[in-house]
Amino acid sequence: MESVILNSKECRSFTSYHVHSTRSDGSDSMHSLAEAAPWHKVVEIGFSDHLVLAPPATGPVSWSIKPETLPEYVEEVLGVREDCPIPVRLGLEVDYFPGQADIVKGLLGPYPFDYLIGSVHFVDGFAVDESAEDWEKLTEKEVNEVSREYWRRIAAMARTGIFHLAGHLDLPKKFSFRPSQDLRQEIGAALDAIAGAGMTIELNTSGWGKPCRECYPSEPILAQAINRNIPIVVTADAHRKADLTQYYDRAFELLGRLH
Ligand SMILES: [Zn+2]
Ligand SMILES: [Zn+2]
Repeated sequence: MESVILNSKECRSFTSYHVHSTRSDGSDSMHSLAEAAPWHKVVEIGFSDHLVLAPPATGPVSWSIKPETLPEYVEEVLGVREDCPIPVRLGLEVDYFPGQADIVKGLLGPYPFDYLIGSVHFVDGFAVDESAEDWEKLTEKEVNEVSREYWRRIAAMARTGIFHLAGHLDLPKKFSFRPSQDLRQEIGAALDAIAGAGMTIELNTSGWGKPCRECYPSEPILAQAINRNIPIVVTADAHRKADLTQYYDRAFELLGRLH
């Protein structure tokens, strides 16, 4: 799948490519999100509802689109595109699980996706971004293991070659349970894999509203991405129309400083 939109020119405009509607875990319909977008100075919107093909260890995920409803999802995005004064892109946020690349490719291949966001929300059945209580139950060793394995999976996700945008890198920090070990090697390897795959990464602003109070990924990781010439696009991970450009001024100020 070729993506033509996530280039550096677009990165400097107000676009919103990480948006969830009521099709997955968002609270507003696609139509109302698209209608609201120009009021937030968004020049282009893309929908990226969740697709999680959860393996047995992870269990059923209530906030995923059901694979059998993909045709309806695609049809709805294309319908909204017809009525909307700004360009509307067809995206999807797909969870990466080892060994699923061919299944994902086969499932999504027939549809005209503009881009796919590759995200890691689960590490061996552990939900990285679900709750602080889940993290509290982990030992220091387990916090290190989950955090390290997260970055290994990001590298593996990039190496599949099927994703265009790496979703909210650095997600395990969400509840401020930080690894005590140095993960620079794993993070560097993940960024190398992303650069090698020609992917873009998000500066996902939603982290500023979470307990970690940092964007995804952190400033030092963004700087490393810039050193590798990895394109960065500002995204809001909006789950309602009020958040279509949450913290965007802060994000552009940060990128201006880092470049
Ligand atoms: Zn996500
Ligand atoms: Zn998301």
